[in-house]
Amino acid sequence: MNEINMEKVYSPGEIEDKIYQTWEQSGAFRPKRVEGVKPFTIVMPPPNITGQLHMGHAMDCLFQDVPIRYHRMKGRPTLWLPGTDHASIATEVKIVEQIRAEGLTKDEVGREEFLERAWKWKKEYGGRINRQQRRLGASCDWERERFTMDEGCNKAVKEVFVDLYNKGLIYRGSRIINWCPVCHTALSDAELEYEEQSSHLWHIRYPAKDGGEGVIVATTRPETMLGDTAVAVHPDDPRYQDLIGKTVILPIMNRELPVVADSYVDMEFGTGAVKITPAHDPNDFEIAQRHDLDIILVTDDNGMMNENAGKYQGVPETKARFMVADELKELGLLVKVEDYKHNVGTCYRCHTTVDPITSLQWFVHMKPLAEPAIEVVKEGKTKFVPDRFSKVYYNWMENIRDWCISRQLWWGHRIPAWYCEDCGEIIVAKETPEKCTKCGSSKLHQDEDVLDTWFSSGLWPFSTLGWPEQTEDLKYFYPTSTLVTGYDIIFFWVARMIFSGIAQMGETPFDTVLIHGLVRDAQGRKMSKSLGNGVDPLEIIEKYGADALRFSLAMGISPGNDTRYSDEKVEAARNFVNKVWNASRFVLMNMEAREEIDPALLTLPDQWILSRLQHVITEIGKHIEDCDFGMAAGKLYEFTWSEFCDWYIELSKGRLMGEDEEQKRNVRAVLYTALESILKLLHPFIPYVTEEVYGYLPGSDGLLITAAWPEADEALDFPAEEKQMEGIMEIIRTIRNLRAEMKVEHGRRTRIKLIPQSGWEDALAMVEPYLQRLAGASKVTFGVSGEADTEKTVSAVCASAEIRIPLGELVDIGKEITRLEKEKANLENEIQRAQAKLNNPGFVTKAPAELVEKEKEKINVNRGMLDNLAQRIQDLKEE
Ligand SMILES: [Zn+2]
Ligand SMILES: [Zn+2]
Repeated sequence: MNEINMEKVYSPGEIEDKIYQTWEQSGAFRPKRVEGVKPFTIVMPPPNITGQLHMGHAMDCLFQDVPIRYHRMKGRPTLWLPGTDHASIATEVKIVEQIRAEGLTKDEVGREEFLERAWKWKKEYGGRINRQQRRLGASCDWERERFTMDEGCNKAVKEVFVDLYNKGLIYRGSRIINWCPVCHTALSDAELEYEEQSSHLWHIRYPAKDGGEGVIVATTRPETMLGDTAVAVHPDDPRYQDLIGKTVILPIMNRELPVVADSYVDMEFGTGAVKITPAHDPNDFEIAQRHDLDIILVTDDNGMMNENAGKYQGVPETKARFMVADELKELGLLVKVEDYKHNVGTCYRCHTTVDPITSLQWFVHMKPLAEPAIEVVKEGKTKFVPDRFSKVYYNWMENIRDWCISRQLWWGHRIPAWYCEDCGEIIVAKETPEKCTKCGSSKLHQDEDVLDTWFSSGLWPFSTLGWPEQTEDLKYFYPTSTLVTGYDIIFFWVARMIFSGIAQMGETPFDTVLIHGLVRDAQGRKMSKSLGNGVDPLEIIEKYGADALRFSLAMGISPGNDTRYSDEKVEAARNFVNKVWNASRFVLMNMEAREEIDPALLTLPDQWILSRLQHVITEIGKHIEDCDFGMAAGKLYEFTWSEFCDWYIELSKGRLMGEDEEQKRNVRAVLYTALESILKLLHPFIPYVTEEVYGYLPGSDGLLITAAWPEADEALDFPAEEKQMEGIMEIIRTIRNLRAEMKVEHGRRTRIKLIPQSGWEDALAMVEPYLQRLAGASKVTFGVSGEADTEKTVSAVCASAEIRIPLGELVDIGKEITRLEKEKANLENEIQRAQAKLNNPGFVTKAPAELVEKEKEKINVNRGMLDNLAQRIQDLKEE
């Protein structure tokens, strides 16, 4: 055996950092553009600079790094482009908190200083998350790292804004938007989280102007009635035919409201008559447009009732709700109050209930942009994996409303629009204008608002490659290959990248959108701060190594589905990593140089493992290309641990330690070939340990990260021998199980008689040495089906043969009877104990029903085992 300097025990802590540096310094992460070769490209979903690495990122990272490493080894120019997102609202919240801690407000600090603080914050913490991604082994090209507010991205944002404005696809207008009264900003529909809230439905009478009964309307927000400008009914509603065109009186405000007919009204809901509050409800807003109604906003930016709310001005909206209801009651106009549950939109940042209000904001006109974005998915130019997510995408895109892109925040891309103070002209431009384009005045001021953070991340696949400049990178790497993301941001992000890519580049930004699920805790709950059940990936890496974490996340995962994290899974993955290390160490200790296989000398086990390897190579490549990383990891685990380590290495030991020099050399060559391929196949999943081991392979040059991916070799495919070997392995497994069941002493040898199944006679003819080595056989004989034995035997059947072993050789009958008698006595005791429990009325009445059931079940199982034991003792005694 060779002395090699491979440590006995693998310690990821010492090795991982060193290897990451080696990779980075070698330039392996940096692709070269090769004319005529299609590159493989992923742009990283930019994590928020406010973020801390969590399990979701670890999953994200794995789903990107696996295909990246695979394609790099396949020899394609491979780019994984990383970056971070300025995360407008999330970062702003942090800075506001910081300012508040100093006893100041945002306005006291002022815009300029606020932005200085934000940049300082970004500098300090913004790189944290990407440093953490390195620990996971992310093989990104850090030299191409980008930030959504760097110079190039800023340029791209202005370019797109001006372009869409000039095409009439961006406009400024008063529309219903979602207002967060705590964050003080507009939010897009995608930024809402819906939660079910218990509320009431207040039924209110609006008397007719002519003194009649009027109508009863129902609402969940009585305070908004102060802004009502009409009552609407369905044009076909028989109950209200007389009322259409008449006037009712709005209580409290005593305003006259027209009764309009609009087919939007649902006759089945409530009384069939609805109050119309255009400033506070998107549907009412549209009805107001159709009937030319006034729009009266009754709340302000802070969630207080405003001057339009009469005497309620200055009262918080939530309080006004009940005050208005009380007043209606006094007026005798509150007909009834019902309990009511409904879904309410809340702010995704602070979870405050949002107010739908009309507000002057900037919007993207979505319909014309959405149509081609739906087309590319329908035509298969961009495909979702799994496919079911394309339905989610269509549903969103087909029902899309105009996108409100202005945010009343400071941190972000400031809207490139200027207002002329003299003539009111709006000038939208990439550069700050000096003079009004209409009147020549120089009294211009820029819009105070910034853009929705998703406006810039929507441009990410091409802004990061240099757009609007026509760079070499842009020409070569766009469109990118795969976009990896969690299902929660299909709307926020994926949809916007697709339509932005089509609008600016004329082509969809990626051909595959790979959606992964969430990492939940061991009990299947979402990891969250409030539950305190979050697991910090860095702590896991510290304890088990990055490879173990990666492999545990890959095992058992399927695209689009959630997965559960548990320490046991990581431990199992860590054991696998150690197994790879130990097996490699054993192989390498027996090897001095790289040797070539001599096909003429291959034995059955050699042919079997080589043949299996060719299949595994083909399968793993296919699974990775299909994005089924869970399947790939599972097969690699089985092949490496069971077939290579447990079987082939064991089968090779005889020759490896033997005297036949030719065979010795050949078995080493097979071990080398198999190990080298296994390391390569495992590399995308557990890159560190495989890279480290690869360095010890004699004759390997360069790094594994850039080594060539194995190709299946038809010359090493031996289907008949593979089947033959598997038949033998099954016999061995069956005998081992039998011996384990009968608790046969280790090292005890027995004669074995095989009765081959039809067709297996020839294949098993040479089985004796294998059964001697691996199944405790002293001698192997062959028989024919139906043959009677002259002695008592134990038998078992498998697909290749029936196996018979003389009972007397398996066990020492006298000793075995004693052992079984003891086991029997134990069982009888167990049964008695359980029976005593059940006879105790205290237990039966007080213990939970399932516990009582458990005891009964125990007795049943034990009785069954007892019968078996008694039979076996009986059999032995007859011997
Ligand atoms: Zn909020
Ligand atoms: Zn002007």
